[in-house]
Amino acid sequence: MPSVSLRLAVIGAGAAGLVAARELRREGHAPVVFERAAAVGGTWLYAPPAAPSDPLGAAATHSSLYASLRTNLPRESMGFLDFPFVAAEATGSADPRRFPGHEEVLRYLEAFARRFDLLRLVRFETEVLGVRREGRGRWAVTSRKLGDKGSGQEEVYDAVVVCNGHYTEPRIAVIPGIDAWPGKQMHSHNYRVPEPFVDQVVIVIGASASAFDISRDIASTAKQVHIADRSTPLRRCVKQPGYNNLWLHSMIDRAQEDGRVVFRDGSSIKADVIMHCTGYLYDFPFLGDDSTITVDDNRVDPLYKHVFPPEVAPQLSFIGLPWKVSFAANCCLSVQVIPFPLFELQSKWVAKVLSGRIVLPSKEEMMEDVKAFYSKLEARGWPKRYTHNFSNCQFEYDDWLAAQCSYPTIEEWRKQMYFFNGYNKAARPESYRDEWDDDDLVEDANGDFKKYL
Ligand SMILES: Cc1cc2nc3c(=O)[nH]c(=O)nc-3n(C[C@H](O)[C@H](O)[C@H](O)COP(=O)(O)OP(=O)(O)OC[C@H]3O[C@@H](n4cnc5c(N)ncnc54)[C@H](O)[C@@H]3O)c2cc1C
Repeated sequence: MPSVSLRLAVIGAGAAGLVAARELRREGHAPVVFERAAAVGGTWLYAPPAAPSDPLGAAATHSSLYASLRTNLPRESMGFLDFPFVAAEATGSADPRRFPGHEEVLRYLEAFARRFDLLRLVRFETEVLGVRREGRGRWAVTSRKLGDKGSGQEEVYDAVVVCNGHYTEPRIAVIPGIDAWPGKQMHSHNYRVPEPFVDQVVIVIGASASAFDISRDIASTAKQVHIADRSTPLRRCVKQPGYNNLWLHSMIDRAQEDGRVVFRDGSSIKADVIMHCTGYLYDFPFLGDDSTITVDDNRVDPLYKHVFPPEVAPQLSFIGLPWKVSFAANCCLSVQVIPFPLFELQSKWVAKVLSGRIVLPSKEEMMEDVKAFYSKLEARGWPKRYTHNFSNCQFEYDDWLAAQCSYPTIEEWRKQMYFFNGYNKAARPESYRDEWDDDDLVEDANGDFKKYL
């Protein structure tokens, strides 16, 4: 039994909040999960098309999913470690594809919540407005039921676990001359379907998986689509194989009053729309200065191992901040971390630290660790905004967390499948979701899953 059982506030009931709640309860704590939406799922709760008043802003929607989205990870690797994401009744499956549509992921998360009896822990349609430090390391959490007026209800918790997601607050590219440019701009956060772009000339900025998918999606209706990618060499634009209306350019140099957009390669086009697929910003509007963290150039600072602010650890923690980007020559590719297992391992660690089974280093030692980590990033020449970019170290991190928790390390097949998917994506950018050569790894995974099904 744990040495301490705590009353905890978890903010968010997406994949991170759900698995955090499960791990905290498994460790003997009493979590209350605050969720602004009326259902679990977070990002995977698709919001249908709407005309947002600010197409560059977060608007009122949390999810950034577009209608055609299929997962960019194979389902075997994507699921939680002990609740396989298989096409089976237990996961509510209705889309058996290996890279299923977004609805299947939502069904999986709903099944996870039912299987571990998490729904009764969630206060739906309840937004956390503020988190304030109280005496003895505790936190006062102010929340308000949607539709209620007034300043909300304040309750005191022993600790707060932040799982509010980081794919909602748009990051926008800076484009010289954009204020005088007469076209329309929007962020991929607000992109849903290609129909509004019929016969238009659209520039998609970015090199992420979303930029890749959305440019193809829009090319099905638009007159022309031009991808502007800052990692593309400065040469004339390249027509994309298999398309007669899709080009890859270097980054935008400037936008002009006459409607033309000039690329750094010297080419220019008259465009109707600029779509910013330029990523997202960490945002914790409910935290004040007493949280001891700041967000500067997308660095959440300071955090020990991307989870605990040393000064207020372990009573405040963050699940799910790491991400990853990588680029492949001549095509824009983004491979993220495998989020669900990472959330799960971080949650196990937080739960055990809170119960006292794992002891953190001293505040000073944690700060030293953070500083040493920043020095490494600087030596590598990485900007602050890459602080939580896991480059190629996600499995090292996962395995470190697992070791802390005396839990098995990430399965070898999952690691190999992840790398294999990256290579397959680079080799078959258009068809990697339907063609692959790693059936042996799928077999290994299914063999392993038998113990959980
Ligand atoms: C376009 C896109 C494609 C992706 N594709 C994949 C993929 O193929 N495979 C994969 O594994 N991952 C993918 N991801 C990553 C995905 O974000 C993660 O899988 C995961 O869903 C993130 O979970 P989360 O719980 O951290 O955040 P979220 O899912 O964003 O959940 C956060 C929750 O917190 C709630 N919340 C926020 N603020 C408050 C507040 N103040 N009060 C109360 N509640 C609050 C929100 O309503 C939300 O429900 C994709 C992401 C995007 C944007």
